[in-house]
Amino acid sequence: MSTVVLHPALLALDPEDREEVIRRRAENLAADTRRGLLAFPLALAIVVGSAEDSYRLGGFFLASAAILLTSTVFRGVLAWQFKRFFPASPDRWRLLFESSLLISSLAWGIGTGLALVTTGFSTASFLAVTISTAFLAHASSMYAASLRLLSAYIVAMTTPMAVALLVQNEIGAGLPGIGGLCFLTYIWAHGRAQHEATWKSAVDARLLEFRNRELTEAHASLQATRDALEEEVLIRTKDYERVAADLRQSERDYRVIFESVHDAILIFRPEGEVILKVNRRACEIYGYSRDELIGRSVVTFTLEPSRGKRRIAEVLESGGPLAFRTRHRRRDGQEIDVAIIASTLEYRGEPAILSVNRDVTEELRNQELRLAKDTAERANRAKSGFLANMSHEIRTPMAGVIGLSDLMLKTELSQRQRGYAETVRSSALALLEVIDDILDFSKIEAGKLNLERTVVDMADLVERTVEILQPGAAAKGIALQLHLDERLPGHLVAPSSRLRQVLLNLIGNAVKFTEDGEVEVRVDMTAADAELARLAFTVRDTGIGIPQSVLPRLFTPFTQADASTSRRFGGSGLGLAISQQLVALMGGKIEVDTAEGEGTRFHFELTFEVATAPDETTASTYRLGRANARILVAEDNPVNQLVILEQLGALGFYAEAVADGEEVLRAVEAESFDLILMDCQMPGLDGYETTRRLRDSYPERLPIVALTAHAMKGDRERCLDAGMDDYISKPFTEARLEKTLRRWLGQKSPSTPPVVAQ
Ligand code: ADP
Repeated sequence: MSTVVLHPALLALDPEDREEVIRRRAENLAADTRRGLLAFPLALAIVVGSAEDSYRLGGFFLASAAILLTSTVFRGVLAWQFKRFFPASPDRWRLLFESSLLISSLAWGIGTGLALVTTGFSTASFLAVTISTAFLAHASSMYAASLRLLSAYIVAMTTPMAVALLVQNEIGAGLPGIGGLCFLTYIWAHGRAQHEATWKSAVDARLLEFRNRELTEAHASLQATRDALEEEVLIRTKDYERVAADLRQSERDYRVIFESVHDAILIFRPEGEVILKVNRRACEIYGYSRDELIGRSVVTFTLEPSRGKRRIAEVLESGGPLAFRTRHRRRDGQEIDVAIIASTLEYRGEPAILSVNRDVTEELRNQELRLAKDTAERANRAKSGFLANMSHEIRTPMAGVIGLSDLMLKTELSQRQRGYAETVRSSALALLEVIDDILDFSKIEAGKLNLERTVVDMADLVERTVEILQPGAAAKGIALQLHLDERLPGHLVAPSSRLRQVLLNLIGNAVKFTEDGEVEVRVDMTAADAELARLAFTVRDTGIGIPQSVLPRLFTPFTQADASTSRRFGGSGLGLAISQQLVALMGGKIEVDTAEGEGTRFHFELTFEVATAPDETTASTYRLGRANARILVAEDNPVNQLVILEQLGALGFYAEAVADGEEVLRAVEAESFDLILMDCQMPGLDGYETTRRLRDSYPERLPIVALTAHAMKGDRERCLDAGMDDYISKPFTEARLEKTLRRWLGQKSPSTPPVVAQ
């Protein structure tokens, strides 16, 4: 049950707010009460102080005073402890408060009424009535919130006084009664006005507070929105900056790529072929600046503008890519070959053509050069092949000439006949030498000459070489001297036959071109350690010398100092060219010092490996039991057959000849032989195949020595691969034949057992 009558203004509030406003009113009431707590005791003291004992000590009065003070103290407790009691039960608090207030006002009213009855118009009753009016005036403000309370307060305080006045008849109810009523009417009117104002202002305050809160909240949310917006703006700004930076970077990247491409890139408009964009390479290829190129027609470059335009039309029609080659003219007039790939594209919203042009001038030139080089190499190989074949074809009949002249010289001949036969022989040998030179030269040129290195005694090699030329020099009355460094290592690894060939050529020339005086050959060691030795070879003569004008082409093939030389001294003009190339292959260079009429000095230096042990193969000894050895000769050329049979007979062998491989197989089947001399090239079954068959059919290894006119590298390997044991190249001398036979028949002789211990 609520003790509060709601003022209509409160209806504008929510129930919660309404409660709050009512609570605050009560709180205000408690605060006002605390402030005015001494009002009743003080007023009581004033009235009591001014009254006579009869009144002051009256039983009723004392009782009223006691009630007044007690109820006032009680209200004081309610006011002071508002926070504790009110929330627990607002209705009870209000009931207790209002009850004690009404008791106080009633007690005061009774006290005042008693003063009037007991003392009449005394000082005490005057003060009591006056103070009562003050209380009532004050109450009209203080308790206006509840009109019911205010009314009860007025009634409680004024009723005892009105009764007292009526009892005091002599005073009458006339003037004071009318004044009192007027006052009460005022008090009531004032109370009502206060009542309205109180609630209106309370509700307004609450509403204001409410609005204020709303406003604050709105402000806060506005602030938050603004913050969020600011944040967003910041992020967007940063994003934008990053995107802009990315864009700038990628723009730079594309430009770098566009400008660094190795081909010219041109973008042009189809109408008028106007160039819109080019890269740096385009400027380089065509020799124009960028400004000059932009706005120019691409047809400027083409040698045939009509064809250029036709190409553009084709690209437009097909869209491309269209690849073609053409020639363009640079700004400086130079013509270049270009490979073009063109296609259409959209450039800045307009149709355009993209052309990627590559300068292939150099490439084409290289291709042509390569082609020319290939052709030249093929021709050179063909030439080498031809030379090798030719020399083979010549060597075969030469073998016959030399062999037969050898045999002829062994027969009874007149002086004149002997002279002819010797000339035939020496001419054939000279011709053979020329052929060998040509062959060597073509081998070197074709890069087919491999130096075969063996272990040699260098001093021995040089001595023997000089020995060969000694008779010629002696015949001319020239001193041929040899000086060998004493410190020469015992054995060296060297391409001995080629070194001998060079020395023979140089010493031979020296002897040939010296009429009197001397030829000196020197070998000096210029440097050495445990593994390598560097040797200097010098051939010096006191001959005719070489004219300065000839020196530059001295080592070029087929040249001689002057045309008359060849007639006077013979020679092909190949010797020095070959020697120089051989020395170069060995890692050196021939130098020449000469003065016309005074002599010539040839000099070269080479480094060789020092060998630890001598070559074993040269150390073997052979014994030959000629009468017991039977030799089968396989040779299809009848002249050569005759020569070999004669040579073998002269050496004391029993020999039989057959003309092809089939006959060899048959002969071996029928008789036993100790060795076969096998020509490699025979009609039908050739030497290689025959050997293979023999090796397959007979477990016992019969020595087979190849006879071949092929002097090219690889022949030896081919023969050995086929199963042959050795190799003699045609034409050969009797001495060479004997040496080889000795090697293979030495240990075969039953009459002379091998020296080797069993
Ligand atoms: P050839 O086989 O014709 O002698 P070379 O190449 O060996 O060819 O020599 C070329 C030419 O160099 C000779 O014909 C000769 O004119 C000149 N010549 C070479 N060696 C000597 C030398 N020791 N003294 C003078 N002239 C030389």
